[in-house]
Amino acid sequence: MATAPPTVPAVDIDAAVAFTQDLVRLRTVNAAGAAEVERPAALLVQRLFTAFGWTYDVVEVAPGRPNTVAVVEGGGGEGPTLMFEGHIDVVTEGDPADWSVDPYAALIRDGRLWGRGAADMKSGVAAMIYAVRALQLAGPFPGRIVVGVLCDEEGLMLGAKAFAASPLARSVDAVIVCEPEGYEVCTSARGGIRLRLDLHGVMAHGAMPQEARSPIVAGARVVDALAAVQTWAEERYGTHPHAGRVTVTPTVLLGGDPDQLNVIPAHGVVGVDVRTVPGTDHTELIDRVGKSACEAAAAVGVDVGLTVVDDRPAVEIAEDHPVVSALVAGHRQVHGAAPPFGAVPGTTDGTILTRDAGLPTVVYGPGGKWIAHQKDEYVEVREIGEYARVYAAAARTFLTGGAR
Ligand SMILES: [Zn+2]
Repeated sequence: MATAPPTVPAVDIDAAVAFTQDLVRLRTVNAAGAAEVERPAALLVQRLFTAFGWTYDVVEVAPGRPNTVAVVEGGGGEGPTLMFEGHIDVVTEGDPADWSVDPYAALIRDGRLWGRGAADMKSGVAAMIYAVRALQLAGPFPGRIVVGVLCDEEGLMLGAKAFAASPLARSVDAVIVCEPEGYEVCTSARGGIRLRLDLHGVMAHGAMPQEARSPIVAGARVVDALAAVQTWAEERYGTHPHAGRVTVTPTVLLGGDPDQLNVIPAHGVVGVDVRTVPGTDHTELIDRVGKSACEAAAAVGVDVGLTVVDDRPAVEIAEDHPVVSALVAGHRQVHGAAPPFGAVPGTTDGTILTRDAGLPTVVYGPGGKWIAHQKDEYVEVREIGEYARVYAAAARTFLTGGAR
């Protein structure tokens, strides 16, 4: 006789949707120098945790920038520790006139919840919280769940860095990052390196270019050299099944003054955004960019200074890791079929949790993969409930060892 499939804990979906709306209505834009970015949303989360009777810590990572982290004990004996992670800061809405809805009204229309942060990632935060609540109300479970609502993901990821350094992080066995990935279970995330190349030449009159060492000419040559580095990196690090290939993209090319067309400047800047795949040797790649840029600029007598502005590794988790298997099983329970595997095109808090604390991270959450940071951001309302149910089922499977 076949055993009945395990049931999915009953999630209060209406409450999860309403909580998403409450979060979206708070304009938690992570702008440069802004104080108290996440504070109002963090207070809302804390009120909900209190209402649930959860114990939680609030850590001010910077003034007005709290991490809110709850630990929900299962009461069902020894077991692993699973973490759900999300952020409550958002990027700017840009020009509201470009939107066809008020970006902070959290309007529900045509089955979609509209607004900045609807997908990235206030719906994910609501879904994970109500999933954990549902599992808790369904009865005791082994182990415990950490619910981490962190700050500054859209900035320097200060919240993830602070959590990774905390004693609690050392007890976490696996993390589900609830970023929008359009039904993909993302087992890898591309790495990111931001480089600044300062070009130092010699200023001269535009009529006497022989007296100059031009950072403009050097900049053009450096951009060409970067394309060659990308080709080299593609061959060297190959094509990852989900994360694709390394890209080396010039994003800044500065030099000269539009009001001084008869002057060759002394100084220029090339900015480079490098995206990497698992297996990329960042030190080797940065070295290659530096050497290639130096050679290209030296050919016209210009010196190059390289600054590594940011360096985040590509991360990966095995497709048969218990937390991945649990998510796949949960997705199958809710949707009746296995989800596709994928890769996060950029970095997430999970990147930092893996880099700094060695935590295995998988990314899976409500909302389209490409909608983040765009105008007219939305999440399909039904997805909030679907993801919450998958999270609850996956947590139960992971904590009871069902996927091993
Ligand atoms: Zn996000």
